[in-house]
Amino acid sequence: MYQKRKQGFKPFPELVEPFSSEEPWKIEDTNTLQLPSNGAVDHRRRWMAVPLDPSGRPVSRHELAHVAWSPPHLPRVRFDARVLAVVEDARINRGLDVIGIPVYLDQEMCAHVRLLAARDAKRNDTFAMVARATASIGTNLESDLTGSLGGEGCAGQFALECVVEVRAALERAEARSAEGIAPFKSGVRIARTLARKLQAEGLLDSRGRAKSSIETGCCALGHGEDEGDEGACDRGAAGAAHPGEMEIVRAPMPVRLRSLRGAGRSFRAATEGSVVRSLTRWPTDKAIFRRRRSGHGGASVLVDTSGSMSIEVSDLDRLLLATPAGARVAIYSATRRSGELRIIAHRNRRALAADLEPYGRANVVDVPALEWLAKQPGPRLWVSDGKVTGIGDQPSEPVTARVAEICRSARIERVATLEVAADRAKARQRS
Ligand SMILES: [Zn+2]
Repeated sequence: MYQKRKQGFKPFPELVEPFSSEEPWKIEDTNTLQLPSNGAVDHRRRWMAVPLDPSGRPVSRHELAHVAWSPPHLPRVRFDARVLAVVEDARINRGLDVIGIPVYLDQEMCAHVRLLAARDAKRNDTFAMVARATASIGTNLESDLTGSLGGEGCAGQFALECVVEVRAALERAEARSAEGIAPFKSGVRIARTLARKLQAEGLLDSRGRAKSSIETGCCALGHGEDEGDEGACDRGAAGAAHPGEMEIVRAPMPVRLRSLRGAGRSFRAATEGSVVRSLTRWPTDKAIFRRRRSGHGGASVLVDTSGSMSIEVSDLDRLLLATPAGARVAIYSATRRSGELRIIAHRNRRALAADLEPYGRANVVDVPALEWLAKQPGPRLWVSDGKVTGIGDQPSEPVTARVAEICRSARIERVATLEVAADRAKARQRS
């Protein structure tokens, strides 16, 4: 059975599962699967997905610990199942630490989770702040995340309090147990106490559900709350293969864009023309004529203003200040299913700062937004971190492929920040 695994780094759940079985586990690589999370396990189907490279080691450890110590199904509880899931994560992470193989996330993963945590705080999603920090208990991220909660006001203080209480309760349960690992039963009890605290704070409704957006693929270790549930395999969510509906709107544009005319920049040197400007260029590039610039800085800029970009209205306002007349600028973002592309600068006019607020926090409409950009005059710039999604704000292979194709065929250049886009716009104007 074990000889089947020729490739390196694959975990062996067979070695740790409490009841041995003849049937081998199926291991898949989350690097190629496009799941919304980087680790998942389904006990019943004997299926596990983890990143199959050395950096995936902490994820593999964590998932293996679920196989060894978590029940195949998390029991039904009378409160949001995510509360139990994150406490369970904390319990097994601490257990791994006790047996000397702690979950140690590399710098890249830490940075990613920190970004997600910052986004929770920005969205005022207190439940997500609590959940993410709780799931990090027992990992090298714990002190990092709890440290930053201190700077997040009342919500941060509350989340910090929750994490401290969960950890203290786990410590007490560990002290009582023979192996130093808190039993699952204690985990359920701790989760119930946490749920009560969240409910008292108004973070859970009368049915015990949280109105939070934190979901599969968002917990501190980047894996889902419903692992072990049926359907873990198909968690790509069928809808994610499709982009959401997008509306194109034009913001009112009462403000004039700065013009570079009069600064001697409305003409350029050319090798053909009727007005000779500079005979001294003859020996070099022969561009002795002057020609009027066409388009006048006619770049088209599309800005992704979804949550992960953390773009402030003031940043956009600065981009518009640097945008020369003739450019076209649009922003786009979405809610879970649909989005909006808003044109905020066109020809020589621009929108007011008040009209630069993003429509939503999600991507979802990257494909139609880029299709719009492809039809605008070039050069075409796309300001984005490159994380594209479809319906439900989930990444998917078809969406990623379509985006790559549009960018290639329309010669769209992606830049990571607004600063780079502003520099490009200025440089083009000068050339
Ligand atoms: Zn887990």
